[in-house]
Amino acid sequence: MRYKRWILPFLLFAAALVMSMQVLAVPQALPLANRVYVIDSGHGGKDDGAQRGDVREDAINLAIAREVRTLLIEQGASVIMTRDGDHDLAGEDAENRKREDMQQRVAIINCGWADAFISIHLNAYTSANVHGAQVFYQEENAASKQMAQQIQQQLSASTDTKMSAKPGDYYILEKPSVPGVLVECGFLSHAAEREQLQSESYQKTLAKAIVDGVIAYERNEQ
Ligand SMILES: [Zn+2]
Repeated sequence: MRYKRWILPFLLFAAALVMSMQVLAVPQALPLANRVYVIDSGHGGKDDGAQRGDVREDAINLAIAREVRTLLIEQGASVIMTRDGDHDLAGEDAENRKREDMQQRVAIINCGWADAFISIHLNAYTSANVHGAQVFYQEENAASKQMAQQIQQQLSASTDTKMSAKPGDYYILEKPSVPGVLVECGFLSHAAEREQLQSESYQKTLAKAIVDGVIAYERNEQ
């Protein structure tokens, strides 16, 4: 019965081998393996962005951005955040905080490693009836338009938005050298949507739609 002594070590070795093979094999098989994205969480610090009562755009942007980061990483991507706290990107004694903040965000997107960027914002409007997530793209950039349309399609499937993707007149869409989109995730001026945007489950729904859109976009690009 000598062989019995070898069964346990052999099984452990075989199990370890199989597990290590899976660990090595999985990243290549994931849909966003080797892709690098900049996630730009709009506003921060003294710049609250849109605001209704004590509900601030900058805090919700960051919560959604962090969910997007988690899901992108799960799909094999690498992520660079323009901010991961309640601050802007301007220097201590910046003469024009907003301008320097925006320039820094664009500098991060243009760092040379990023394949694409996703800027996260919330909207607000004078009419309290307007609602829905909407994706904006770089005019005359086919890849940006593709990405925006794929993300909008996912948002339409998983939320009640009736919006469609549009070219956007935003600094963050004009200056970068890689394709990207700006997602206005909803309207703080719409009471029901304002409630939804504060809930973790809705933030996760939005993040999943954004990442599913990115996956669909990458599949089409290949
Ligand atoms: Zn904003």
